[in-house]
Amino acid sequence: MALIVHKYGGTSVGSIEKIKNVAKKVAKVREEGHDVIVVVSAMSGETNKLVGMAHEMAERPDEREYDALISTGEQITSTLLAIALNSMGIPAVSFQGYQIKIITDSAFTKARIQRIDAERMMKEIKAGKIITVSGFQGVDEEGNITTLGRGGSDTTAVAIAAALKADECIIYTDVDGVYTTDPNICPNARKLDKITYEEMLEMASLGAKVLQIRSVEFAQKYNVPLRVKSTFVENEGTLVTKEEEKVEAPLVSGVAYDKNEAKITLQGVPDKPGIATKIFTPLAEANINVDMIVQNVSAEGHTDLTFTVPKSDFKKALDIVKNTAKDIEARNVIADENIAKVSVVGVGMRSHSGVAAKMFDLLSKEGINIMMISTSEIKVSCVIDSKYTELAVRVLHDGFGLGK
Ligand code: ADP
Ligand code: ASP
Ligand code: MG
Repeated sequence: MALIVHKYGGTSVGSIEKIKNVAKKVAKVREEGHDVIVVVSAMSGETNKLVGMAHEMAERPDEREYDALISTGEQITSTLLAIALNSMGIPAVSFQGYQIKIITDSAFTKARIQRIDAERMMKEIKAGKIITVSGFQGVDEEGNITTLGRGGSDTTAVAIAAALKADECIIYTDVDGVYTTDPNICPNARKLDKITYEEMLEMASLGAKVLQIRSVEFAQKYNVPLRVKSTFVENEGTLVTKEEEKVEAPLVSGVAYDKNEAKITLQGVPDKPGIATKIFTPLAEANINVDMIVQNVSAEGHTDLTFTVPKSDFKKALDIVKNTAKDIEARNVIADENIAKVSVVGVGMRSHSGVAAKMFDLLSKEGINIMMISTSEIKVSCVIDSKYTELAVRVLHDGFGLGK
């Protein structure tokens, strides 16, 4: 008898019929004699609807209230699923984040899980119950409801699996595994039977939303056996696991894209010590994650500095930067929300050169202009005009020979 954590995403619980389908899947695992904890997302579209309403109410909604609002979608699905299971004669109990003490820090909209009360859940499991849990939400030490960032239900599931030392954590979604790139924009994408935590972490951090990045961090840290599967198609999906001894790692193993960043440029910034810290410290204090940073060579003591921030923090970041710009006497601030970051990833890059050059060549052949570049040991990212995202992904995917 095993303890298994399932997570079902928005499209998997998008209607009453679909929730009934999830209940049947869970019932089957129970029949096989296993204990199950089911983490659910809100019905598809629901969180976006709540986000939209908050922004209709105010340009920059109060963050505490915003989190309390956008966490409510999950309460509907976790309770409906428990109702469905109970009506099938399978004892089930639903929990919200605060009820099982998914304790987080107080960084509203992107809170981090600090600990989980395993005992409360274990008590119900020992009593023979299936547990349904609202994903995406937690509670801080003061009792405020927090949310874990978009896609955060994945993290709820993996964190619970880690806290309860579950035998397996299965992420059920609308695709049947992790692919070389998003199969919804690149029909040629290839499903991977296995992917290492490290590569998955890189893909997720570069925008592959099939798993939220923090869920992969948890899985790696606590060695949670993690599998991505389809709710609707029966197959083995993709196992996310530790690195194995490979004869030769592929040079490029995947392509990712991210349309959720925006670009801010400070023009005519005085080029002297202490300026960068004046720009970035207030952003860090406001809990804004700055991603790529590019500073030009200075001309006549002035330079331009460009960086990217999550679109969800864009307005907040822009207000802060405009204030700083006055302070440091920068000439101008310009911003661009219509950007995308496309990236190629592969652990094999460590020992090979030429990936970046090939990437630039492939993009240039399509006439796609590169606005920013960043590289690490195992990835190369380029910021481009968002209207070319799909084209760029397909061209890179095929150009690096990842297709079927
Ligand atoms: P859920 O609502 O189940 O959490 P998400 O929409 O968050 O589902 O994540 C699944 C989606 O991730 C897929 O529909 C697909 O479009 C996208 N995706 C992006 N990159 C990849 C990839 N490399 N492999 C599989 N899916 C990917
Ligand atoms: N419902 C939340 C979102 O749409 C969390 C999740 O689906 O994982 O981001
Ligand atoms: Mg998701």
